[in-house]
Amino acid sequence: MQNNHKFHALINGELVSGTQQMPVINPSNEEILTYCPQATPEDVERAIGAARKAWPAWRDAPMEQRRQTLHAIADCIEENAEELQRWITLEQGKPLAGAAVETSQAPAILRYFAEMDLSPRTLQDDERQRAELHRRPLGVVAAIVPWNFPLVMACYKLGPALIAGNTCLIKPSPTTPLATLRLGEMIADLVPPGVVNILPDGGDVGPLLTGHAGINKVSFTGSTATGRAVMRSAADSLQRLTLELGGNDAAIVLDDVDVDAVAPQLFALAFVNSGQVCMSIKRLYIQSGIYDRMCDALAEQARDAKLGEGLDPETQYGPVQNRQQFEAVQKLLEQAPQHGRVIAGGNTYGPGYFVEPTLIRDIEEGNPLVDEEIFGPVRSLLRFDDIDEAIARANNSPYGLGGSVWTQDLTLGKQIACRLESGSAWVNQHFAMAPHIPFGGHKQSGIGVEFAEAGLHEYTAIQSVVIAK
Ligand code: NAD
Repeated sequence: MQNNHKFHALINGELVSGTQQMPVINPSNEEILTYCPQATPEDVERAIGAARKAWPAWRDAPMEQRRQTLHAIADCIEENAEELQRWITLEQGKPLAGAAVETSQAPAILRYFAEMDLSPRTLQDDERQRAELHRRPLGVVAAIVPWNFPLVMACYKLGPALIAGNTCLIKPSPTTPLATLRLGEMIADLVPPGVVNILPDGGDVGPLLTGHAGINKVSFTGSTATGRAVMRSAADSLQRLTLELGGNDAAIVLDDVDVDAVAPQLFALAFVNSGQVCMSIKRLYIQSGIYDRMCDALAEQARDAKLGEGLDPETQYGPVQNRQQFEAVQKLLEQAPQHGRVIAGGNTYGPGYFVEPTLIRDIEEGNPLVDEEIFGPVRSLLRFDDIDEAIARANNSPYGLGGSVWTQDLTLGKQIACRLESGSAWVNQHFAMAPHIPFGGHKQSGIGVEFAEAGLHEYTAIQSVVIAK
């Protein structure tokens, strides 16, 4: 495969080379990787029109046809996994092993939703009336995707949208459109024209979709700030929304844990994807009895971590994905010595947007390093004595995506987990996602859930059908 592949958008079943092109940067060297089409407002209108036109036939198609289409898309990803992994690594920066997680989870989620049941439920059936609960598709879904997991997050939305009978527009992030565009090229002949459209943009198309009366639902994953803007613009046409937003997950580590065994797990779950995961561990609350030992063990992990270009098989951690994010992390790093003691990392280097895995100890709340979501490889190690105090501090955040408790006492662990104000609460693990387990945010981490039956239902409207006898 060559970097000079010519990319196309997918609009109304046609592969469109586009009237405008935009560069895509490789975050490992800051060079232009390639160019791809940049959707214009006219392209957006054409895609929405095509999705609207395709909707009635797709909505009324037999469930079996929709199932087969999802399995065919999943087959396509599996058959082309190696190529897709390479594009993900080149555009996103993550190591090939991380890209392989995307190309294995994407078909798994599509196949999971392909087998979901949406048949009506009987609510009442007696001499007076028969009442049934039906789930109807909503119409046209806009799937707006961030840059940290470009391919798999598009599929999180595509699977439930299509199986429920909606048509779909996927808008990748402006900095990571390539794997999604390749997927569009591969599936163009597998789906009826207009059912799936893919619109790469320079950052201007999101607001066109969220304010558009032709879009019935927006499934958005991204930052909390953008989520608010999406919600505001959805008001006019009362678009249905699923918002998967930012997180500042706490891990509460009790002093009965085996430090040597747990430190590598905590490190991996904090720094996975170079810290650019909504649901990674961001704040580590460590009980006093093991605080020093745990800080040392985590710092050793950080020093051993191999940073580099994602195509190098030795690389464990890639760069931060884009310049804007890199500069935001650099700014936070500058403040670190004022608020705590940097015990590993602390430096950035280039070319490429590389940030050493950084750990800050003896730090408390009340500064952006702890209070704000850091979307990069910088983590705070906070000391606590009392469990109630740790829970209160973990919950004292506008975010509520995930949280975890680490202890050998599973009963106590569960009790603490149940007191966390978060959509997911784990014991002795973190970021443990599976298609049959819903995930979503409490508080300002989001509205609605993805995955599982509850996630599928977000792409439907209830219709009560009541027949008098
Ligand atoms: P972002 O909010 O900047 O962008 C996300 C997407 O929204 C992009 O495709 C972008 O082009 C689009 N967009 C930007 N402005 C828009 C607008 N006004 N209207 C509509 N769309 C618009 O987020 P990002 O920087 O790409 O991703 C990082 C953020 O995403 C982090 O905060 C992270 O926590 C969050 N995230 C959340 C989850 C989750 O499931 N909760 C998963 C991954 C990432």
